[in-house]
Amino acid sequence: MGEFELIRTLFRPLAEATWQDGVVLGPGDDCAIQRVPPGHELVFSIDTLVAGVHFPAGYDPVRLGWRSLAAAVSDLAAMGADPVCYTLALTLPDADPGWAKSLVGGLEEASRAFGIALAGGDITRGPLTLTIQVHGTVPEGQAIRRSGARSGELVAVTGPLGGAAAALSWLEAASPPASAEGFLARYHRPQPRCELGRQLRGLATAAIDISDGLLADLGHILEASGVGAELEPGRVPRNFDGTQATLDQALNGGDDYELCVILPHSALEQLPGSVADSLWVVGKVCAGSGLRLMHADGVIEEVSVPMGYDHFRGQ
Ligand code: ADP
Ligand code: MG
Repeated sequence: MGEFELIRTLFRPLAEATWQDGVVLGPGDDCAIQRVPPGHELVFSIDTLVAGVHFPAGYDPVRLGWRSLAAAVSDLAAMGADPVCYTLALTLPDADPGWAKSLVGGLEEASRAFGIALAGGDITRGPLTLTIQVHGTVPEGQAIRRSGARSGELVAVTGPLGGAAAALSWLEAASPPASAEGFLARYHRPQPRCELGRQLRGLATAAIDISDGLLADLGHILEASGVGAELEPGRVPRNFDGTQATLDQALNGGDDYELCVILPHSALEQLPGSVADSLWVVGKVCAGSGLRLMHADGVIEEVSVPMGYDHFRGQ
């Protein structure tokens, strides 16, 4: 099956099945067209996933479709943006129609779940790589940036952490134990927190999605905001269907796609109960710089903020 055949039989139908109101023109022309409602801004981000780096070579294509789109949409969630549409640049070693059909199945499920439409793309031949550009909108001036955290505010996360990292050792297992199911679900089907991001607009002063690990991603907020933080490791949720990720996995493991949110005390009181119930306060922002872990036994550990995964480290 050639490039145009793949587009005609798989990707255009996917675009039609997932169409959203903001898409004026989908695949088929030189560009797609997106409508940005008056008083709104376009928020966009691009992510590339390379086989063997971001997912195991030979990874199930249905899961790959879900996971790739979830990881991309998570960046919109972190900004408090409403997802509208995405483009997909696909590099394939060969045009295996069965594999592509499964990928499209995973993408369709995720597109519907997150309310985002396929609006266009590109197909090339080469080592398996997916690049997804997601587009969303926010009311003017309301995107939640990394730079707004202020001393005295709270650090919160939107769910348990470390599950995707804990899943890594079970990914290739033929029959993983039942205790690993919660971890594996988190790895295979991350849930971008779009609804929470939307509800936090105007209340959170900073946010980031946790793709590289809580310490690394919180570190980006601290750096962008020019502040420090104290974190209580004992308060970081890490329970997945009754099985705990280790503290190291919860603090340093990537790929969970929960949000790390900074907000003043007063905002916590203004939030609807359902949103407040989805936030775990794990620390507070302080003046100065650096990140301190306040352990339950009274030990205070100064951590040098890890910079996150660096593809070129050591080169
Ligand atoms: P061009 O040569 O102008 O870049 P292409 O031949 O790459 O156009 O693509 C033709 C049309 O098919 C475009 O509208 C493009 O958005 C769409 N398209 C190509 N690949 C995909 C894909 N993987 N998913 C959705 N649409 C696609
Ligand atoms: Mg092209």
